[in-house]
Amino acid sequence: MKVYIIGAGPGDPELITKKGARLISECPIVLYTGSLVPVEVLNTAAPDAKVLDSAGMTLDDIVDIFLEAQKNDQDVARVHTGDPAIYGSTAEQMRRLREHGIEYEIVPGVSSFAASAAALGKELTLPELSQTIIVTRMEGRTPMPEGEKLADLARHQSTMVLFLSITLVKQVVRELAPVYGEDCPVAIVYKASMPEQRIIEGTLADIEEKWKAAGIKSQSIIIVGRVLTSEDFADSRLYAADFHHKFRPAAPRTPNQ
Ligand code: SAH
Repeated sequence: MKVYIIGAGPGDPELITKKGARLISECPIVLYTGSLVPVEVLNTAAPDAKVLDSAGMTLDDIVDIFLEAQKNDQDVARVHTGDPAIYGSTAEQMRRLREHGIEYEIVPGVSSFAASAAALGKELTLPELSQTIIVTRMEGRTPMPEGEKLADLARHQSTMVLFLSITLVKQVVRELAPVYGEDCPVAIVYKASMPEQRIIEGTLADIEEKWKAAGIKSQSIIIVGRVLTSEDFADSRLYAADFHHKFRPAAPRTPNQ
């Protein structure tokens, strides 16, 4: 018996991995985070599988399902949104699984921040502009560890991706504008990859107003950084004509070159 902790991807049923979809089809118990994972993502589940939504459950309720499955020697597909390694509350479940001697395996997924960049049609790392992505959140009910306050992270002026912060746009702007500059581009992607997907683009000066007008209050990623609008970034070395590497060695020289 094993628990498969599966990244469901950002919502589009075609963005789950083949392995994730296969395991969902093979597990007699499918437990998914219904608050974020659309049921269509579970369309490979067997007709007789027990499909349960964990949205209304406590950690103990979830562990009870694992224990019951252990007793019956049934595999469980534990399906989480995006990638399980990012704000998934998966670590506490895995700790319980270890305590109970239940084997588990993680199957990665497409994080919603990658789907948001895709929706925007952007690369988040550009040569000489930003080579770092800070993935973080605004402080909410979960306090931020010392040294990870937004103002501390802003110092780097790297591309910044904020999860779980869509109701706190005002605070995000207040913390970032003094460092990134009011003219720094910002994008909000609501329900990336889903039919309801919406995009709001602006700057730190006007994003709050645009966000309020849009009335978006959930399931969104905020991306801040000059990479969003820059057109004058340097070309990468990877495809530079004068740069050679293992996969594109220098052409053999002719004798009189
Ligand atoms: N593990 C997930 C994140 C779970 S935390 C991942 O890798 O994507 C939940 C937060 O993820 C939401 O508050 C929102 O910030 C973001 N989120 C999840 N799905 C999203 C989607 N389709 N579009 C935009 N943001 C999304």
